[in-house]
Order: sequence, then C-alpha cells, then structure tokens
Amino acid sequence: MKPPPFEYVAPDSLEEAVSLAAQHGAHAKLLAGGQSLIPAMNFRVVQPAMLIDLNRISELRYVHQGDDGSLAIGAMTTQHELEIDALVPDRAPLLFEALPHIAHPQIRNRGTIGGSLVHADPAAEIPVIALACGARLKARSLEGERWIEIGDFFQGMFVTDLAEGEILTEVVLPPLAVGTGWSFMEASRRRGDYAMMGVAALVGLGEDGTCTSARLVYLNAGDGPVDATEAAGSLVGAKAGPAGRAVQHIGVDGVGPEMLERARERLRHLVRYGSLGVIRQAMILPAAEGELGLQEQIVPRHHAAFHRLPDAAADPGLVIMFALVRRIDAAKSLAEGERRQPGRCVLLPGGAV
Ligand SMILES: Cc1cc2nc3c(=O)[nH]c(=O)nc-3n(C[C@H](O)[C@H](O)[C@H](O)COP(=O)(O)OP(=O)(O)OC[C@H]3O[C@@H](n4cnc5c(N)ncnc54)[C@H](O)[C@@H]3O)c2cc1C
Repeated sequence: MKPPPFEYVAPDSLEEAVSLAAQHGAHAKLLAGGQSLIPAMNFRVVQPAMLIDLNRISELRYVHQGDDGSLAIGAMTTQHELEIDALVPDRAPLLFEALPHIAHPQIRNRGTIGGSLVHADPAAEIPVIALACGARLKARSLEGERWIEIGDFFQGMFVTDLAEGEILTEVVLPPLAVGTGWSFMEASRRRGDYAMMGVAALVGLGEDGTCTSARLVYLNAGDGPVDATEAAGSLVGAKAGPAGRAVQHIGVDGVGPEMLERARERLRHLVRYGSLGVIRQAMILPAAEGELGLQEQIVPRHHAAFHRLPDAAADPGLVIMFALVRRIDAAKSLAEGERRQPGRCVLLPGGAV
C-alpha cells in the first residue's frame, strides 16, 4: 500500500519550518528520518496533506558539551551520528550503551533522536534513556521556545506533550553525578527487532559503597517508558557488596502493578533477570573503581566486574547472573551470525562517570 497524494516542502531554516508548521497545523506532519512516519503513511495510519521535511535544517544537527558537563543534542542528529560521536560515551554512557540495540544500522543512519522521542513508542530505547537520565527537551513554535521536563513529555502510547505546530529542537542530557554506575540491557527475539523487554539502570554509590540513588526505567512494559520508582527506591541504602546481595530480591515484585498485568510469565523472568543484571553492573562498576583505582579501560561488556573483582568471581549468585546475561547475548549473536562488539566502560578515579 502507498500513501494518498500529499504536498512536500523542505525548508532550509528552523524559522521557515516553524512558520510552515503553524500555517498547516494538523494537516501537516514533520519528516525527520522517516523510519516510523513513512511506514505509517504507507499503511495509511496517518495521512498528512503536507509533509514538512526537516532534513535540510543543519542547525538542528549537532552534539555539544555544556559548561556543566551536560550534553546538548540537536533533534535532527541521527542515531548513527550519536553512535560515532566522541562525546557520547563519555558524557552519556547510558545512551551510548543503548544505541546499538536500536533496529539495524540502515535505520540508525536515518532515524533521529528527535523523531524517536516524538514518536513515543513504548518499545523504543531512546525515550527510556532520556527518562532515566532526566533529560530536558526544547521545543519551538511561533509563540517562541519552551523547555519540557522529560517526566512531563510522554503522555501515553505515541502521544507526547508537544502541541500542534511545535517542533522539538534540542535534547539535553544532564551529567551523571560522580560515583554513578549505569547499565542497559534488553532481550529481543532477533538482533534489530524491537525488544520484548529492556531496562536501564543508573545507580549512585557513596564512598562506602552504599547505594545513594537509583533509577530503573523499563521499555515495552507499559504505555510509555516505565519509571519503576518503587523498585529503584528499595535499592537506596543497600550496600554494593561483591555481588550486590542486597538487591537479590528486586525484580517484578517491586515494579508497578500495571506493568505486572501486562507482563506474561516469560517477560516476568526477563524483567527479573534484566533488573538483576543492570543493577549489579551499575553498582559493581563504580565499586570496582573505588576498590582497585582503575583508570579508563576498554573492557568487554558484562565481563568487566567478573574479571576484575576477585570477590565477585567467588560469589555464586553473581556467576549465575553473568552466565544468564551472557546466555541471552550469546543466543542473539548466534542468531545473527555475528560477534558482539565489546562495550566501553569508563572508570575514572574518584568514581566520576
Ligand atoms: C524495521 C524497523 C525497526 C525498528 N526498530 C526499532 C527499535 O528496535 N528501537 C527503536 O527505538 N526504534 C526502532 N525503529 C524506529 C526508528 O528508531 C525510528 O528512527 C524512530 O522511531 C523515529 O525517528 P525518525 O527520525 O525516523 O522519525 P520520523 O519517522 O520521521 O518521525 C516520527 C514522528 O515524529 C515526528 N517528528 C520527528 N521529528 C520531529 C521534531 N523534531 N519535532 C516534532 N515532531 C517530530 C514526526 O512528525 C512523526 O510523527 C525501527 C524502525 C524500523 C523501520
């Protein structure tokens, strides 16, 4: 099926795009990478009379570091550009870890950070990362500019707080606090498929290894990214021991009832093991750095703490956990006939991320 006829315009400036968006209102759609919009148009799920192509607007394509260490990303920056930008692994390691999980390289070459956020698919990675990191979003319309806190942005499946005629222009990811560990994991049937379940974790550790803050955000577990505040809250005060034994009981029990209703039995297991995996990895990395004083290193994903911490290796719980995580990874890799790239863990003195 193909879309019904529509008009097409490709403005060169944001100014022009804003005035076209205001002029055509609900009859128009903004075109970013087209990786969600064009299939929807082909299926005639959406039938805009006018397509406003944002691809010529170079002022919406950038990655900048702010004075406070935050990362400002133009809405039209592609997912691939983020994957290869040198600032992303250092300033937004959680985003860096999640990007390769988005679809296939061909799709990431076109798909943009802004398009993914505005599309607001509950199974998408970028909305989860943005929520976990506490992103701020800048939108522009004829009325001017406004900032939207990420917690207010997602209003349901495929629905956001953006008003008619508003264009998302920038995403700001604040710096992670010193001593924060991060981790992202998802399980999908084949590499490149949307995830059956995924979870991002950010865990703050005090100098004595006690968890001071925690964030757990799930994808494909509700009408949007699911911020499991109760589960995350139960981590605070726990001590990051060799295997983070204190978090053994976290999992589906701590996640909201709405999510439980939706989760089938298999997904419950994924939630449980996914939670354990990301929490342990997020807690162990800063703890490892504290104990061993490691400098920046390139270490294989999921293997870092296992190989670096003698205590951790001695803990049967952790060994089982890592085996499970690696089994999921191995199954995905075998299915694709490709080897996974090692991830990059940045361990800096003092626990800075
Ligand atoms: C086969 C396939 C597999 C995929 N798998 C995954 C996956 O595993 N994970 C995942 O996260 N995604 C996946 N995607 C979706 C992909 O990541 C898209 O790139 C993303 O959802 C939309 O980004 P886009 O730039 O292509 O936006 P578009 O498709 O161009 O636009 C999406 C929506 O956002 C609006 N929009 C775009 N930019 C702006 C803006 N700046 N301001 C206001 N509104 C705007 C558009 O009007 C439209 O409504 C997949 C896509 C395909 C085709």
